[in-house]
Formats: sequence, structure tokens, C-alpha cells
Amino acid sequence: MNRSLLENPSGTVPSGQPVPDSYVRQLAERVSATCEGVSEAEAAALSSASDEPLYDGAAMITRSCASRKFDTCSIINGKSGRCPEDCKWCAQSAHYHSHIAEYPLVSTARLVEAAALSRSHGIGRFSIVTSGRRLKPDEVSALCSSVREVAAKTGMKLCLSAGLLDEEDLKAFREAGISRYHCNLEASPSCFGDYCTTHTQSEKVSTLEAARNAGMEICSGGIIGMGETIIQRIGLAFALRSLGVKSVPVNILSPIPGTPLENVPLLPEKEILRTIAIFRFILPDAALRFAGGRARLSDKTTLEAYRIGINASIMGDMLTTAGADIGKDMARIHSAGYIL
Ligand code: SF4
Repeated sequence: MNRSLLENPSGTVPSGQPVPDSYVRQLAERVSATCEGVSEAEAAALSSASDEPLYDGAAMITRSCASRKFDTCSIINGKSGRCPEDCKWCAQSAHYHSHIAEYPLVSTARLVEAAALSRSHGIGRFSIVTSGRRLKPDEVSALCSSVREVAAKTGMKLCLSAGLLDEEDLKAFREAGISRYHCNLEASPSCFGDYCTTHTQSEKVSTLEAARNAGMEICSGGIIGMGETIIQRIGLAFALRSLGVKSVPVNILSPIPGTPLENVPLLPEKEILRTIAIFRFILPDAALRFAGGRARLSDKTTLEAYRIGINASIMGDMLTTAGADIGKDMARIHSAGYIL
């Protein structure tokens, strides 16, 4: 541990050692009292903390600063595959051979049916996700018309994830009934270019700013387990904080055969928990949302994740991978003490 990284609220921290448990506890007490996240230096120091104090500190912050109403959503893959972009994690990129279903925009009836099913499960929001760099003008008008019908027939709160749209398109979707726009930063600014070369992270930031200008809330997170370091994960959390993001999907890479990341080893459950805990110290009041890749986690790890930071989740199936059983998830969330 580089001693210059430490901003110990209680005094000296021995260099070359994991940070003391008392340091972690005092940071947790300070964040719980103010709901202001830790500094980058403090977050880097937390990366050497022992597990239990780190988890207990994050649990204290979660109870004090994060919503106890668990935020659930479901997604539908509204247009699949054939994407010209080269994101290395993605089964939908046309650059790779991952054998997924490919189809154009789904019908309005299919969207209405899926949104109504989500509602019947008691899920709070319904999100339409489309592959590709961005929708074409005819797709924007077709999807706006579908969105109006879904809103009118189901009354669901609606989100959209449709790539690098401009403000004019985003305003059209806002008027049609979309209240939240999703665009993941995916990785730390320091390594995004290692995973995608066909667009930049600044284009994503511009899209999120345009969505906010159009009157939408924004939702943005990333993927862990692509080979990045814990310091790079911390960099992602700070990039999200600087944008004021309050809904943060945490995806755990499911290496997809045929993609360049197919042989990346699965991130160990302990690493996943440590990342969630540190995210909670950085983003005390955000909705930290379980997203892709979490269906493989044990019950014990899932419940611990809810205790130390996760207070939101995508329910059911993901875009190209099967998700967890909704009834089982609801029962676990309830038993973790959240309101559904
Ligand atoms: S993540 Fe999105 S933009 Fe990147 S390849 Fe997949 S569908 Fe295309």
C-alpha cells in the first residue's frame, strides 16, 4: 500500500500493511453520517482492507444512506445482434461468432405482452434494450409508437437503452413515455479503449448528458471481471459519481464463447463482494443494481451482496443469458429486509 494514498481520519496508517479495521470503521461511520462518498485515495486504501470490516462498513452505509425500497426492473431484448460495434464482452457484436438469435425491432404486441408479464410479477420498471450503435430514424419513430402503446396499456414505468442517441431522438422518446435512459460506461476511463475501439466512452457520456437534458433520469454502470484491476473498478465508480448517476447496474462478466473474452476466468465471489462493498463506500445513496452474471452466485453470496450494498436488481432473463428465478429472487430480497 502506498502511504500517500491514505487519508486516515484517525491518524497514522502503517505503510506496506493492509489498512487497520479501525480505519475502515471510521470511514464507514463518517460516510453513514454524511452520505458523502469517500475520496479516491480512501477508496484505494479500502482495496487493502480485510473482508469482514469492509463488508460490515458497507452494510452500515447501505442501511443509513441507500433506499430500503428494493428497485426492481426487467429488460427485453428489443432488437438483437448484427451490431457493427466491437465491444469485446458482447454476444451481439457482428465482429464475433457467438451464435445468438438475431432479429429486428420486436412488435408492439410483444413489448406489451412482456411489460404486462413484468407487472404481474410485481416488477417496478420495464426496459427496452436494442443492439447497435444507435437506432435509425425509422426505428426511432416505430419504437416511439410502440412505447406509447406499452405505457397506455400497462402503466409500467419505462426505460430505454438504445445506444448513442442524440438529444432530438431522446426528447421524442421522453414525450412517448420513457422516463429513464440507460447507457453503461462499462469500464474505467483508463481501460475502456482496451475493450471497445469503435466508439469512445466520451460518446457515452454525451449521450447520458443529452438524456438528462431531454428530461430523463439516467442509469449507467459497467461490467466487472473482464480482467481489470480493483483500482480500475474504483475508477469506474468515480466516473459514475462525477456524472451524478443514481442507478448503477453491476454486471459480472459471463464469458461468452466466440467473443474475445471467452477464456477470461470467472471472477471469484469474494472479489465480487469486495467490489460491491467498495462501490457502496463511493456511492452511498445510489441504487446498486444486480444485472447480468449474478445468477451463478450462491445463496450465501447473494444475501451478503444485498446486505452490503445491492438494493436494486434486473429480474428474470438478461439480454443473451438466462437470469435467476423471479419468485426465488423476490423471497431472498424480502428475507434480506428490503421492501418490495
Ligand atoms: S454492447 Fe451494445 S454497442 Fe457494444 S457490441 Fe453489444 S450491442 Fe453493440
